[in-house]
Amino acid sequence: ARHFLARGAKHGALGAYLAVDEEVTLAQAQAADQRLAAGDTAPLLGVPIAHKDIFVTKDFASTAGSKMLEGYRSPFDATVVSRLAAAGCVSLGKLNCDEFAMGSSNENSAYLPARNPWDLSRIPGGSSGGSAVAVAARLAPAATGTDTGGSIRQPASFCGITGIKPTYGRASRYGMIAFASSLDQAGPMARSAEDCALLLSAICGPDPDRDSTSLDLPAEDFTKALEGSIAGLRIGVPKEFFGEGLAADVRAAIDGALKEYEKLGATLVEVSLPRTELAIPVYYIIAPAEASSNLSRFDGVKFGHRAKDYSDLLDMYKKTRAEGFGDEVKRRIMIGTYVLSHGYYDAYYLQAQKIRRMIADDFQQAFQQCDLIAGPVAPTVAWKLGEHGSDPLADYLADIFTLPGSLAGLPGMSVPCGFGAGGMPVGLQLLGNYFAEGKLLNAAHRFQ
Ligand code: GLN
Repeated sequence: ARHFLARGAKHGALGAYLAVDEEVTLAQAQAADQRLAAGDTAPLLGVPIAHKDIFVTKDFASTAGSKMLEGYRSPFDATVVSRLAAAGCVSLGKLNCDEFAMGSSNENSAYLPARNPWDLSRIPGGSSGGSAVAVAARLAPAATGTDTGGSIRQPASFCGITGIKPTYGRASRYGMIAFASSLDQAGPMARSAEDCALLLSAICGPDPDRDSTSLDLPAEDFTKALEGSIAGLRIGVPKEFFGEGLAADVRAAIDGALKEYEKLGATLVEVSLPRTELAIPVYYIIAPAEASSNLSRFDGVKFGHRAKDYSDLLDMYKKTRAEGFGDEVKRRIMIGTYVLSHGYYDAYYLQAQKIRRMIADDFQQAFQQCDLIAGPVAPTVAWKLGEHGSDPLADYLADIFTLPGSLAGLPGMSVPCGFGAGGMPVGLQLLGNYFAEGKLLNAAHRFQ
């Protein structure tokens, strides 16, 4: 823990951390030592980990990357945090992210941008940017992230680490500051599939009293799945993931990875996900709709920021929200409110829900022909800070390959598979059918 705290302090310019507290971390480390001395055999006893600042924690402030929650202290830990603590993890602190997990570059953090350790002039990806930076720069051996539309997979890909988003419902959302509740899922980001398997085993499991969408599936030991042979594994390659928008350097790295899988005994099958393009408009209707509802709780009354000068209650709400939220969050609240409003609900929200179902059905069609699906995580390598300027569409379009799996609720991974332009890492995306986390981790582990 001391080693990682020192590295974190030395590399503060990377912008990975939003909160650290040496005393808290060392006290947790000492408690782990005592558990060890008492014969405790918890699987991750003493392993340092850092948490995306979207998980609430009682020992560190929880901001969700927003001024709205500056300095906010939760009276309880998120289930993911308490499950990892029970497994023995020692918390190094809280990691930078896009405000309320809305973003693809970490530039929407209200505090500071995080920087890609491979090239400091580039973004690390988002929204779990701080998590990817911390692991890639060895400021933490592992980190938690959340993925609503790609926020574990895309920063993992951009920073050359391994990350897995489990099937929707595998991990409890209790204490995860909500963005889009029908999509939000937690997962580990680490150096290898093996580390991810260890962490995921601790994270997953039912939480029926606290998250009604958590699945009633027993906790699983995903490390058991790692070693199996992948000879005969049918890997589906969706042709829509290899169209014009895919940069040549990324394509070359992905093609290389697919060849490697063939050498390992897998067979490649062409499959089709015909509604891939529609995933962008569908996601950018559904996610803001849910966000506009979830974020209504930040009104200056119950917790977080409250404007100083106001004339009456309505004025207090307005000033609080105008001051507390950043531009992207405001944009999504407005889009979400619009698509849910009377007269537009049927045309946008309902329509998006129908297409969401079709996208999920397309995956079931594809999984008739294959065991896993493979393709790029993102169309390009990490871009330069400021490159997308104030054009939110440029960010949205770059989510094209991660959104379909999110809308379907499927498990997905990013596995480092080579380098593209500027020597930047490229991640291979693996998508599995529901509950196929073991198969994904197995395929990733064999490749690594
Ligand atoms: N980039 C996507 C968005 O901005 C995904 C974010 C996420 O998965 N949290 O909404």
